[in-house]
Amino acid sequence: MQVMESGRPITALAKEAIYPGLPPYQSFHNTIDNALTGTKTTRHTLDPSTESPLPAVPVSTQDDVDDAVRAGQEAFSAWRERSYDERAEYLLRFADAIEANLDGFTELLGREAGKPMQAAAMEVGFALQHLRETAKLRIPEAVVEDSDERTASVRYVPLGVGVGIIPWNFPFLLGIGKLDAALLAGNTFIWKPSPFSPYTALKLGELGTKIFPPGVLQVLSGDDALGPLLTSHPSVAKVSFTGSTATGKKVMASCAATLKRLTLELGGNDAAIVWPDVDLARVVPKLGALAFLHSGQICMNIKRLYVHEAIYDAFLAQLVAFVKTLKIAGAGDAEAFTGPVQNGAQYARVRDLYGEVAKQNWSVALGGLDSTSATGERKGFFLPPTIIDNPPDESRIVVEEPFGPIVPLLKWSDEKDVVRRANDSMMGLGASVWSADVERAERMARRLEAGNVWVNSHFELAPHVPFGGHKWSGIGLDWGVEGMKGWCNAQAVWVRKL
Ligand code: NAD
Repeated sequence: MQVMESGRPITALAKEAIYPGLPPYQSFHNTIDNALTGTKTTRHTLDPSTESPLPAVPVSTQDDVDDAVRAGQEAFSAWRERSYDERAEYLLRFADAIEANLDGFTELLGREAGKPMQAAAMEVGFALQHLRETAKLRIPEAVVEDSDERTASVRYVPLGVGVGIIPWNFPFLLGIGKLDAALLAGNTFIWKPSPFSPYTALKLGELGTKIFPPGVLQVLSGDDALGPLLTSHPSVAKVSFTGSTATGKKVMASCAATLKRLTLELGGNDAAIVWPDVDLARVVPKLGALAFLHSGQICMNIKRLYVHEAIYDAFLAQLVAFVKTLKIAGAGDAEAFTGPVQNGAQYARVRDLYGEVAKQNWSVALGGLDSTSATGERKGFFLPPTIIDNPPDESRIVVEEPFGPIVPLLKWSDEKDVVRRANDSMMGLGASVWSADVERAERMARRLEAGNVWVNSHFELAPHVPFGGHKWSGIGLDWGVEGMKGWCNAQAVWVRKL
């Protein structure tokens, strides 16, 4: 394995340092201090499109965690002294190296996450853009007082060893979106992928050994025991967690013992409110796609669709017709819009919700467990896209985050009341309003209790725009300059002029 010497300027890297064609994606290792390491015990996941086993991956132990944290601490003192521009150069080289392996990463991501090619390519493409755009960001030092006697300014200094804990739904982008901000701000970073989707992260770690100094970027895979080993480690300075609200609460409790800095990006139950003045032909396909993208397994999928009663019936008919056109197939399919549910445990959870349909007597406009027309009889964790027609507000399908391809359509008539209903949730990640009257829609959007509100779109994100959740959807922000500040301590600097 070639390892770049610590301290060697990145500009001196030879062109071949962009490593096309990493070895075939059969062997997977942790990356600790730029060494590829194995563990006594291994595990593997199933390809969600076929249920066939994927290769073995490490199950990290306390010793692996201690070694990685120690290496991260040792690397921190030199890494933090590098200029922003130098650290940005490393990120750009990393982006180039990923791009040189684009096909391999896209295929591997598709297989581990159950994403058809278009969806996997979109995620890898966005991650590349994320690295390159984040590399341009800088946290400005603010002078808050500059008088004859003194100056007072606020600067942002890195924390030390950062940990990113990543869920299985966007295993590539969400990890990159934490590591780039953490490293650019001057921290070192340990990436802990989900046990359900460790593969691309481990290969990114391997690629990172050819780019970064030892200890700067490390990747540890494991089982359910690994997260707590990291969140309780006394020498980890910060945990940035993305995942479910239930786990987020455990992470926060664990981090409290050592007063770690913490960012939580948690679950959502996003509402979209549709006014009667919309052009149905234009908005129904957009709303339908945003509800069923990645089979509903995105934190910011539309999960509650409130449609004005004047257009409700027409909207429902057009939505059903549109969703029927979506092709659902596994990772290898070049044309499919979406794929299976990502893992067996999630499949069982979502099936349980489908099981409520009969018990609660919900009206099914499309899909349901009896329907196999959309998915066919096949291996893999496939579930048919399902639309529930106007269930009661207190039903599970409205109150819970399904994280699967099942969406309720709800009727509204009164403006104040629909805002109350949209806000009547412990979640507050995203929300949108759809109307030809953009000013009215924006007024309504500003009354919604969510970290991200959109007019005539949903799930719109950009590397330079921070995102985060209100209420039980999170604490703190990822992405943008605000996200980078989360990887720093603020420091007030007072200088008295003698
Ligand atoms: P999860 O909470 O089960 O797991 C997330 C990560 O936490 C995994 O890496 C897991 O191994 C780890 N983990 C589990 N127990 C832990 C513990 N006790 N301590 C530390 N780490 C632990 O979530 P998931 O099922 O992988 O992801 C789906 C959830 O993530 C959904 O609720 C979704 O809305 C949410 N999500 C939120 C965002 C966001 O940006 N807000 C983005 C994507 C997904």
